[in-house]
Amino acid sequence: MHKKIGIIGGMSPESTVEYYQYITRTYTQRFGDYGYPDILIYSVSFQPYVDWPNQDRWDLVAAGLSEAAQQLAKAGADFIIIATNTMHLVFDQVQASVNVPMISLLDAVGDVIQARQFTTVGLLGTRFTMEQTFYHDALTQRGISVLVPDAADRVIVNRVIYEELTAGHIRDESRAEYIRIIQQLSKQGAQGVILGCTEIPLLVKESDVGLPLFDTTVIHAEAALRYAVAPQEA
Ligand code: GLU
Repeated sequence: MHKKIGIIGGMSPESTVEYYQYITRTYTQRFGDYGYPDILIYSVSFQPYVDWPNQDRWDLVAAGLSEAAQQLAKAGADFIIIATNTMHLVFDQVQASVNVPMISLLDAVGDVIQARQFTTVGLLGTRFTMEQTFYHDALTQRGISVLVPDAADRVIVNRVIYEELTAGHIRDESRAEYIRIIQQLSKQGAQGVILGCTEIPLLVKESDVGLPLFDTTVIHAEAALRYAVAPQEA
């Protein structure tokens, strides 16, 4: 029996659906049938999770996501993932609130970058992901240096996420801006760029830039799928 996956989603729904599709479709491609793991999705109302970070109320974010995690555990999830980069700022607090394991997106991304033997990568994401220390710390602990865009470009990257991508709007002008910003990071020495927001892969693809891109949605969903189908420990 596979482990039952609990997904804390809705941040935004545009990327939660990508996790769901990746896990189910990839299972079928890989194993040839429809025997994918059971999946429980707790899709939160997104607005408070937009407001609280802006008010620096990470305590409320942690409490809300802990409540969601507890509901998933109660409903039978064997393990839980938080389907957003930004909310990993409170990962440890959410993990401490439940007895089931959680798979960190930051660990999954760190593993993939290390496997490529990259030592310098660019990072695009919300302003919290680019400017707070949690993401940088997770990667520098593994010997990976992180470059972020300059302040003006961080504003653009953040604005496109919250005003367009999380609402399902994919705009060519914004893609062009992201491509310019990724190329700038490449010029500064990035060997690859982390699409460190689960909606960014909806906008830019590796073929748009000719540089390795780390799709955090696929990387995290793949880690969850592998863990779910791995043989149970005795
Ligand atoms: N999905 C985005 C991320 O991966 C941003 C939305 C949010 O969680 O604030 O960071």
